[in-house]
Amino acid sequence: MSDCIFCKIADKKIPSKIIHEDDKAVAFEDVNPQAPTHVLVIPRKHVASIAELNAADSGLLSHLMLTGAAMAKQKGIADSGYRLVVNTGKHGGQTVFHLHVHVLGGRPMHWPPG
Ligand code: 5GP
Ligand code: ZN
Repeated sequence: MSDCIFCKIADKKIPSKIIHEDDKAVAFEDVNPQAPTHVLVIPRKHVASIAELNAADSGLLSHLMLTGAAMAKQKGIADSGYRLVVNTGKHGGQTVFHLHVHVLGGRPMHWPPG
């Protein structure tokens, strides 16, 4: 999608700190980190949110989540623990409408989230 910021990041049309890429996903550092480790994992293909996915996309979704777990390992927070978050829609706090998995860690997380 031409006016989508995360599509542009995946296409390297705008700069970001990419830490992993493969045929289906790209992972990069969040520009406004909410924890010592804050990575975003996105699909290469434009999907506005998880609400648009269905059973046919289960392979892509599992790849995004497993890539999130792999990024936690790569960043050295797998043992201390971390949180994978998919904000969805207005009440979910989604601000960028290209599906992304937040990988947050390096400090204790609180529950319930704000
Ligand atoms: P959401 O609120 O939609 O779940 O998360 C969007 C995330 O994207 C936010 O954490 C925000 O800091 C991050 N973000 C927004 N624009 C950019 C950008 O241009 N580059 C990077 N690296 N992260 C961005
Ligand atoms: Zn997009």
